[in-house]
Amino acid sequence: MAHILIVEDEEKLARFLELELLHEGYQVSKTGNGREALQMAQQGDYDLMLLDIMLPGLNGLEVLRRLQKENPVPAILLTARDAVMDKVAGLDAGAVDYITKPFAIEELLARIRVALKLHGTASKTNTAQQSHAGAADAPGGKELPEEETHRWGKLALSVKRHQVTYDGQEIALTNREFQILKLLLENQDIVLTRDVLLNRVCGYDYVGETNVIDVYIRFLRSKIDEMYQVKMIHTVRGVGYVIKSESVK
Ligand code: CA
Repeated sequence: MAHILIVEDEEKLARFLELELLHEGYQVSKTGNGREALQMAQQGDYDLMLLDIMLPGLNGLEVLRRLQKENPVPAILLTARDAVMDKVAGLDAGAVDYITKPFAIEELLARIRVALKLHGTASKTNTAQQSHAGAADAPGGKELPEEETHRWGKLALSVKRHQVTYDGQEIALTNREFQILKLLLENQDIVLTRDVLLNRVCGYDYVGETNVIDVYIRFLRSKIDEMYQVKMIHTVRGVGYVIKSESVK
């Protein structure tokens, strides 16, 4: 049975989660300290972590980042309400999902089942091989075709080199920003809905909030549209986003 590490410093919540998970038949360990969590995750063999962000010792995001380098353990973040930036930072640091407190235990259990299915032992070797890419790859480890370059005006996205340049200048993007930009560039003049972007970038079973996509789009705009004074990503109100080939200057 899957072994789950609970990292939560609110004792009542941690205890409640422990009992529920034991009841479901999972093997459970827990700690309320970030530094101890890092140590346990480095040394143990966990299938999944439930990771609070605000922790004594070391915060949850830092635990994730440090683990990502050597021994990534799939993590579901337990975040505070409306902490969108935490969610985005967490997903970029390699979390596979997040859930906002307070949550219904049934919902968390459902997400745990999905995360274990997508990121269970079978996919672990795959993740380890791809870890040189730095940031987390989308669940399912989608294959990228080689030697592919997408262009929009002076912007070029090289799939093989995982690199984006504008007029020869490199733009630093996180993995998910890169994936979203790639999808929009591949589908120029086609409006992509938030759901489509979310599914393609975060995985089909992703059950988080779609406004995460808006946050990534905002980052992309600040790094490209605002930086180079172009209008690349258009919002189609109530639908989604599109890059229009005709708007290239
Ligand atoms: Ca906490």
